[in-house]
Amino acid sequence: MPLEQRRSVCPHDCPSACALVVTVEDGRIAQVAGDPEHPFTQGVICGKVHAYTERVYSPLRVLHPMRRVGEKGKGEFERISWDEAIEEIAHRFLRVIAQWGPEAILPFSYGGTLGLVQFYAGHAFFHALGASRLDRTICVSTAYAGWRATTGAVTGNDAEQLVDADLVLLWGINAAHTHINLMTFVKRARARGAWIVAIDPYRTPRPSRPTSTSRSARGPTRRWPSGSCTS
Ligand code: SF4
Repeated sequence: MPLEQRRSVCPHDCPSACALVVTVEDGRIAQVAGDPEHPFTQGVICGKVHAYTERVYSPLRVLHPMRRVGEKGKGEFERISWDEAIEEIAHRFLRVIAQWGPEAILPFSYGGTLGLVQFYAGHAFFHALGASRLDRTICVSTAYAGWRATTGAVTGNDAEQLVDADLVLLWGINAAHTHINLMTFVKRARARGAWIVAIDPYRTPRPSRPTSTSRSARGPTRRWPSGSCTS
């Protein structure tokens, strides 16, 4: 069967939502790459999604319900059917509700590899059950507090505007690893001669490493007294 290329989008809960081109051969994924035609992500994707083929077909994936049969931490499980799994969970829920009430159940979930449907998938069920509601602040509280303290609202900023900036301040962000699509625009700003300043309590890979621009086109280097600062 010939190779096919299909367009897709990264399933992670990551603001970039990188556009993907997935090569399929004989019904199996052969390669996952960025879509160079997408105006924002421009063909750049992170290493973990680039290696998705390996993960999708990994023998280590859990594809069936498993019941722990040994002590916790021993890693001893047996495969059970979906019916058995649902029956066991329902039985435990009923036991907990009978003994302590429905608020003794706390659904624990947040982002990750979720689309909008999965993100809210359990809500209706747990609300009907009367379960406790989770304040879903597992990984964003600090960022939101920072936004509210500095701008009064959680808004985000327009990464594409960076291209025209004269000064780019990367404050407490290891953008070269955790915001790779931002770096596309940071590099373009640098090519225009913008100053790129990174402030971090620890030294991260230099997000403003010189790109292919000529020396005269780059901004000068600055050191920040209390952390890592490069341009
Ligand atoms: S940076 Fe990685 S995780 Fe984030 S959207 Fe792109 S491919 Fe997905």
